[in-house]
Amino acid sequence: MRIDIVSIFPEIFEPVLGGSMLGIAQDRGAVEFFVHDLRTWTDDKHRTTDDYPFGGGPGMVMKPEPLFRAVRTLAAADPRQPFVVLTCPQGRRLDQRLVEELAAKDRLLILCGRYEGVDERVRDIVDLEISIGDYVLTGGELPAMVIVDAVTRLQPGVLASPASAQEESFSWGLLEYPQYTRPASFEGRDVPEILLSGDHKRIAEWRRLEAIRRTALRRPDLLQTASLTDEERAFAERVIAETAQDDEEIHRD
Ligand code: SAM
Repeated sequence: MRIDIVSIFPEIFEPVLGGSMLGIAQDRGAVEFFVHDLRTWTDDKHRTTDDYPFGGGPGMVMKPEPLFRAVRTLAAADPRQPFVVLTCPQGRRLDQRLVEELAAKDRLLILCGRYEGVDERVRDIVDLEISIGDYVLTGGELPAMVIVDAVTRLQPGVLASPASAQEESFSWGLLEYPQYTRPASFEGRDVPEILLSGDHKRIAEWRRLEAIRRTALRRPDLLQTASLTDEERAFAERVIAETAQDDEEIHRD
């Protein structure tokens, strides 16, 4: 997969894209990152990328010309057509399903906004606007990094064990089960006996139930679409009912 990023602060990507799993993913050839300075596509002495908003009001708006030129030039740079993403707090909220959709593309081109955002006409050359949550950041660079990280780890050959991506939170419609490592006992806190048993079938059953319990406790909304057997659904409902009862007792006391 090829990922192009266009920003007025290209230098801030270097430590993130070059290090850790993202660096390894590049070394393994699973993904190629190209970070571009939007100012490359300006045509004035000051390399201006923003201007005052028509109609007045606070802040500056990113000019359309450099962004149009960037998208057109970069689209022509590779036979794979880029799927153009604009980082934007008004966009579709990023979740694991969207990450999976993006990870299946051959090529992404991510535009990072700044100031009050981009001139409205830029939306004509964008395939999807993506928000990483209902809050406003100063720029699209952090959202771009979040998107790139989540998408890259789904590329074939990046994770040591592809099964870990399948069992993770959200991937199977549930939050992930609790995880433990050595020591088996730490300051009086013991790892559940079952995990030390070596009985992989029972461990898998325990993990599944714990994933359902955790989802019922923390994100019951996810259970509506999770694929559960009747028995599992009844278990989830019991967990929710017991918690509600505990809460009621705490409030009464
Ligand atoms: N005036 C815009 C609005 O009210 O929707 C907010 C602009 S924000 C200060 C500047 C840029 O940061 C945006 O153009 C976008 O690229 C990025 N940004 C800020 N918050 C974001 C979020 N939650 N998700 C994705 N991008 C975000």
